[in-house]
Amino acid sequence: MQPFVLSRPKTLVDAGDLARARPQDSALRAGGIDLIDRMKEGLDAPARLIELRWLGEADREVMRALGPDGEGVQIGALVTLAQLAAHEGLGEAHVALREAAGSAATPTIRNAATLGGNLLQRPRCWYFRHADLVCLKKGGSACLAVGGENKFHAILGGGPSFIVHPSTLACALTALDAQVEIRGPEPRTLALAELFVTPKQDAKREHALQPGEVLVRALLPKPSPGQRSGYAAVKEKQSHDWPLAEAAVRMSLESGVMKDVRVALGHVAPIPWRSREAEAVLEGKPASEALFAEAAKAALAGAKPLRDNAYKIPLTQGLLREVLHRVAGVPLPE
Ligand SMILES: Cc1cc2nc3c(=O)[nH]c(=O)nc-3n(C[C@H](O)[C@H](O)[C@H](O)COP(=O)(O)OP(=O)(O)OC[C@H]3O[C@@H](n4cnc5c(N)ncnc54)[C@H](O)[C@@H]3O)c2cc1C
Repeated sequence: MQPFVLSRPKTLVDAGDLARARPQDSALRAGGIDLIDRMKEGLDAPARLIELRWLGEADREVMRALGPDGEGVQIGALVTLAQLAAHEGLGEAHVALREAAGSAATPTIRNAATLGGNLLQRPRCWYFRHADLVCLKKGGSACLAVGGENKFHAILGGGPSFIVHPSTLACALTALDAQVEIRGPEPRTLALAELFVTPKQDAKREHALQPGEVLVRALLPKPSPGQRSGYAAVKEKQSHDWPLAEAAVRMSLESGVMKDVRVALGHVAPIPWRSREAEAVLEGKPASEALFAEAAKAALAGAKPLRDNAYKIPLTQGLLREVLHRVAGVPLPE
């Protein structure tokens, strides 16, 4: 790993200024799990790391906040996955986020990894992560997954790059309709979907932050009456593994009728994938096994698998059905 300077600014303004001074040559560090991996793998060699965990009290308080915000919930960017997974303030309405945080990575990683870093981590595609390969994301002319080994790649929304978005929290936060607050020269609040960049928009990046902008917190809106939610993932190994597919669902049930339905899928597309097709099937209808099967079919109707990943279609359909059954309280068929 190349030597670097570690800066410990006391304010977010100073952190942003440092990052903007040498945008190509510096990186913000939160838990460091992804960033240090990339540096060890030779993908990135920033000359300066800007530590976000040593901010002065005022900014640290915002970045570590976890709890009510008006009638919604705020989650500071430095809240760890372990803290999220253990936070009982995230009740039935928001339990999808606890389930997602608790299922990601390993206990050791969850103790260090933060909400902000998890949302902004870079893809785990083996071609992108190989220091000697120049894939599309690194300025090459093609996505190497297209003609290569693509078992773990995108089946929805792919092209020209076929990475899958790595963030487990992003899948749950998409279903929960989250927003993110960004500090920089022009502070802004974005719907989570606006944070992510599709490969068609720009194949070289996955998020819309400018150098020196800091993600400060995520915000969950006030839940509707009777809101419930859930998340699940399928992995090849039960531990220490990345998901093959993820599904997160939010809905409110009024006399068995589903309202305000959100369906999000993970590890199937280059961005956290909101399925408006599945939502349209479910919205305003009584929860039932037949409807869940129809919604799962609709969610994957647009899938375009590569050579090795057609298995993700039935896998994701089955996973989504399972989560819908659980969230709506409809027993799974024998
Ligand atoms: C074996 C293994 C299994 C894993 N499994 C999963 C999994 O199942 N699901 C999953 O989601 N992840 C998984 N991960 C990845 C891990 O969860 C992420 O690397 C971690 O969440 C990143 O968070 P961090 O705080 O360490 O980020 P960092 O490494 O500190 O930062 C990541 C990136 O975000 C930027 N950044 C960080 N915070 C901010 C901020 N507030 N504002 C602006 N930019 C910021 C950094 O500059 C950097 O580019 C796994 C990792 C391993 C090693």
